Order: sequence, then structure tokens, then C-alpha cells
Amino acid sequence: MLISNYRCDLALAFANTRYWRGSAQPTDELSDIAVLLDWLAKNGALDAREQRALAAWTRKQAGEAAALFEAAVGLRETLYRVFGALAAEAAPKAPDVAALRRAIAAAPPRSDLTPAKDGYVWQVSAPRPIASDLLAPVLWSAADLLVGEATQRLRLCSNDKCLYLFLDHSRSGARRWCDMKACGNRAKAHRHYLRSKAA
Ligand SMILES: [Zn+2]
Repeated sequence: MLISNYRCDLALAFANTRYWRGSAQPTDELSDIAVLLDWLAKNGALDAREQRALAAWTRKQAGEAAALFEAAVGLRETLYRVFGALAAEAAPKAPDVAALRRAIAAAPPRSDLTPAKDGYVWQVSAPRPIASDLLAPVLWSAADLLVGEATQRLRLCSNDKCLYLFLDHSRSGARRWCDMKACGNRAKAHRHYLRSKAA
């Protein structure tokens, strides 16, 4: 399978598939294994042929597919806890770090960098239906973020209902909101509301 064009912060995007984490009812984009396969394909982590093969497998092995989905979502939550702690300048919990290290070690290695028409791709064997194979590009991205300088730019949205993870690429490094429209304006409107109530 050829892997290309996945975003550098894919691990954060994956962790953010559950969002409004600070609200009473967070929204979860990933409802089942088919949606997960779709998400991976859309985000450059799975090619169309492997997506079809895995989708066929999930229809035949419903029980195993449910377990695979649970393991993948479990890894997502581990990623969120590790990056969430780092964004809050706290130490991630040891069991979370251990689980992430195990998953990264089990992921297929990036050993075959292959020239392609528009640049380079990673050539890896077809993913087996296990979480560390399926999420390989997510796990590579997590490792790259943890080791690289991007950890300095890791933030949690200041809207305590939102708590979205993002990389702050602003020059000042003082960005507080995942998105000015969704959270920044909401906070401004809320402050305005409090002021007008107090007046
Ligand atoms: Zn936000």
C-alpha cells in the first residue's frame, strides 16, 4: 500500500474526531468501523483498495471488527490524554505513554521511501486488521509530533467546552482558540453578555 499526503498533525486530527469534549455531550465523529475506515481514507492514511478489502473483512467478521474499532478508539483516547496533558504543560500519565509506545512499536516501520509522480510515498504492506496497522500514519504522526519541535506549539482550545487540540503557528505563539469563528467569537459574545448583565 502507498501512503502519501497525510497531514503532519494527523494524530491531533484523529484525537479531535471526538470534540466539544468539555461539554456534557461531546460529539463523536467515529460511530463505527466503516466511518473510521472512511476517515482514514479521506485523511490519506488508507488507500481505496485497502479500504474496500478491510470493509469486506468487517462485514464477514463483525465481532472482530467491533473489537478492532474499540481498540482504535481506545488509542484515540490515549492520544488525546497524552497530547492534552502536554498542551496543558503537564506530564502525561505513565500508563498512557506506555500504551502509546507499544502501539508505535507495533506499527509498520517507515522503511521504504519510494519516488512517485508528485514526490515521494511510503510503501508499506497491506494493513492487517489490527489497530497499530490500521492507524500506522496516525501513530507515525504522533511520534513525529512528540519528538519534534511542534510540541512547543501544542495547545488546547481555551473554550472549556471545546478543548480541541491544535498547533499554534502564529508568530506570537499566543493563539488561544481552535477557531476564531467557532470559539473566539463565542467567548467574546459571552464576555459581552456578562458585562451587559452586570451593568
Ligand atoms: Zn475551540
